[in-house]
Amino acid sequence: MRKKTIVTAGLAATLLSACALSDKTSDESDTNNPFFTEYATPFGVPPFDKIKIEHYKPAIVKGIEEHTKEIEAIANRKEEPAFENTIVALDQSGRLLDRVVTVFFGQNSANTNDEMEAISREISPLLSQHRDDISLNPTLFARVKALYEARESLSLDKEQAKLLEETYKGFVRGGANLNADDQAKLRELNSQLSLLQLTFGQNMLKETNDFRLVIDNKDDLSGLTEAQIANAAEAAKRAGLEEGKWLFTLQNPSIMPFLQNSDRRELREKIFKGYIMRGNNDNGNDNKDIVKQLVTLRLEKAKLMGYADYASFVLEERMAKKADNVYALLDKIWEPALKVTKQELSDIQAEIKKEGSTFAAEGWDWRYYFEKAKKAKYNLDESQIRPYLQLENVREGAFYVANKLYGITFTPIKEIPLPHPEALAFECKESDGTHLGVLYMDFFPRASKRGGAWCGGYRGQTYKEGKRVAPVITIVCNFTPPAAGEPALLSVDEAETLFHEFGHALHGLFRDVHYYGISGVPRDFVELPSQVMEHWVLEPEVLKVYARHYRTKEVIPAALVEKLNRGSKYGQGFATTEYLAASFLDMDYHVLKNIPANEEKQNLNVLSFEAGTLSGRGLPAQIPPRYRSTYFNHTMGGGYTAGYYSYIWSEVLDADAFEAFKETGDIFHPEVAARFRKYVLTPGGIDDAMEMYKNFRGQEPGVAPLLKNRGLD
Ligand SMILES: [Zn+2]
Repeated sequence: MRKKTIVTAGLAATLLSACALSDKTSDESDTNNPFFTEYATPFGVPPFDKIKIEHYKPAIVKGIEEHTKEIEAIANRKEEPAFENTIVALDQSGRLLDRVVTVFFGQNSANTNDEMEAISREISPLLSQHRDDISLNPTLFARVKALYEARESLSLDKEQAKLLEETYKGFVRGGANLNADDQAKLRELNSQLSLLQLTFGQNMLKETNDFRLVIDNKDDLSGLTEAQIANAAEAAKRAGLEEGKWLFTLQNPSIMPFLQNSDRRELREKIFKGYIMRGNNDNGNDNKDIVKQLVTLRLEKAKLMGYADYASFVLEERMAKKADNVYALLDKIWEPALKVTKQELSDIQAEIKKEGSTFAAEGWDWRYYFEKAKKAKYNLDESQIRPYLQLENVREGAFYVANKLYGITFTPIKEIPLPHPEALAFECKESDGTHLGVLYMDFFPRASKRGGAWCGGYRGQTYKEGKRVAPVITIVCNFTPPAAGEPALLSVDEAETLFHEFGHALHGLFRDVHYYGISGVPRDFVELPSQVMEHWVLEPEVLKVYARHYRTKEVIPAALVEKLNRGSKYGQGFATTEYLAASFLDMDYHVLKNIPANEEKQNLNVLSFEAGTLSGRGLPAQIPPRYRSTYFNHTMGGGYTAGYYSYIWSEVLDADAFEAFKETGDIFHPEVAARFRKYVLTPGGIDDAMEMYKNFRGQEPGVAPLLKNRGLD
């Protein structure tokens, strides 16, 4: 339900830094560099305690050198191309580079500093160039192509055939089939695009950080909670403001509760407008022109690659396959969501009237009056729930669910290198004691960690000399830290986030494939294993196991659970509509087959394009899309380009998948769980994603369970 996860780390390639990696790499640092030898650690995890920042650059440089030599050796082999000497050899190449980059980007997300950021800016263009050098190597591609064309005669098993297909497609999509001129054009487009994407994100960050709402009058804090006021005073102090001032920012943990609680309508308006105008202030951080250029160059790239539009280029690799299929799903949910939204708006208008006011609700009124309407209807207050959601108990609840479903266990590991001193390590084992993998969990915010929650890996599952190499997975969150002398108490949203990321972790732990090239699944399938886990969080059968009051140990009362369940559906009109509006916007930009010209003969006026997309579908004026064009980093920054729809696409699957359990009357039904593990969590990308789902469910999913879950039916 919630859009909170970024599964894959990885920086957009950039050309910002032209400086070569020229730092001295003495013989001594070579022998001491932990990346250059096999890790001698429990379960072979990275030796975090021995890795120093100065080890990264030399290891990456050497990794690229070694990989380049391996690639040349494969391309220039005397023997005829064969599956083993070309496709498998390619899949296994670049291990050193992979080993160091995996650790580097994992650490750069969760444990960064200026030095790490500087390294990332230096290595990103090198890595991007290195990728282009491989996919545009004509001798190498000739071997891959020869094998692909002879694929019927190679007697490959299913997994091998899929690896060959994916390898070939990877080359083609990287431009291998283009003529030399077009390849040069593609390299140029790729580097322009990556620079624009990076600039977009940097502008957005600056615009987010530059806005400040400073309150210096206690009366203007009216309506805010004690905790909010304390946090704002703390933020003011950190920003160097004098005593008696409170600072509110455009960061979600600051602005969203402000919009919910502040009684000062004019202040709500001010911060709301600051939020929705990011990247649109006609200053040095303006993103309108960047959006225009990104959309234009992406279309150019798509046409160069032989596609009618950019969405077609992207979606070919996704479960959705075609833009029509994406629109069909979004349209199906749009009308019911809009209907519920209108009901919510009339509830809001009623609250305004109750107060004795007559104005029509604006965007900055929505969250404020919605909270009042919710309280009036459900008498529900988040602070009633938190005492039952102690972090350690929620974590044990997730382990319990995994144990009931799959028989696996999680045991703390004491003596093992940790990615950060605050992280915890667990060994995951099958019911018969077989080692499945290592799971790290790192829960609280700190300055060196980026925001949000995600699941990543420090080693992917693979096979070496016929033996399974177990994965090393990490879950990183930014949960509410404990108050002094108290345990950490989570919100419902945070508890769901923990289960969500744990679902990604299970997907990583259960994966059992022989080749790196087929370990991934399409973007619009990747949230199925995670989102499905959220369904167990509030099941009474699960709550009674883990949701105990941290002081009294009393199980959460059934009446409170009931209230919570009913109240949680209220507000889904708004949540669904703002999400869908952003999904439409993302798609509409990327199905353009020509860039529309306006009267000034400028290409693509971003603001009027956006307005047309939204008003044409009847979005109420009070609801901006979840992200407007000038701060829509998912689509403009890359990663979710023509892909923001993925969350709801996956939600169709996860709602339908949970229905498979519900239908049996047993949310832990062993056969359904076994099928889910076998057909969804284990095969990586061996099969077409819809085939994998149908193997599990016996049929394609319908949209009804999703509408029911969101209260839109
Ligand atoms: Zn996720």
